[in-house]
Amino acid sequence: MNLKSIYQEVILDHNRKPRNYGTLDNANHHAVGHNPLCGDRIDLALHMEGELIDRIAFHGESCAICKASASMMTANVKGKSRTEAETLIKEFREMVIGNLDLSRPHHLGRLAVFAGVRDLPTRVKCAILPWHTLQAALNSVASISTETADDPIQAATSNG
Ligand code: ZN
Repeated sequence: MNLKSIYQEVILDHNRKPRNYGTLDNANHHAVGHNPLCGDRIDLALHMEGELIDRIAFHGESCAICKASASMMTANVKGKSRTEAETLIKEFREMVIGNLDLSRPHHLGRLAVFAGVRDLPTRVKCAILPWHTLQAALNSVASISTETADDPIQAATSNG
């Protein structure tokens, strides 16, 4: 199976059965992310026990790539520390904008199937939105948009 078909398989699987989909009781971190270019909206809730993400859930209206990215993200950061989650956010962002050398050690595991998004410029923001929303939730920022001037992803993607 080549990387492209693995990618399609993963996207389909996470759209059929999104992990951690829904709302969370007693969430203590929350953020909403918007990508107006595609119409994606991700509502993300976390329950943190100290520095540990012990529960996480998302819902919203989004395209297949955004939903699959959100589903895989929640599965990968659940049970991880804030520091570990922030490493994944950084590596995922670098990967989808084409700045991560996947032949070097990284922590992304199966998330590496999203590497192909770098060749689909209109989809980069869809894939990255859940991760940016997670960073906002960790920083206690209530909402973010991929189209605001101070958006770090906007800055990173508009230069290349
Ligand atoms: Zn989208």
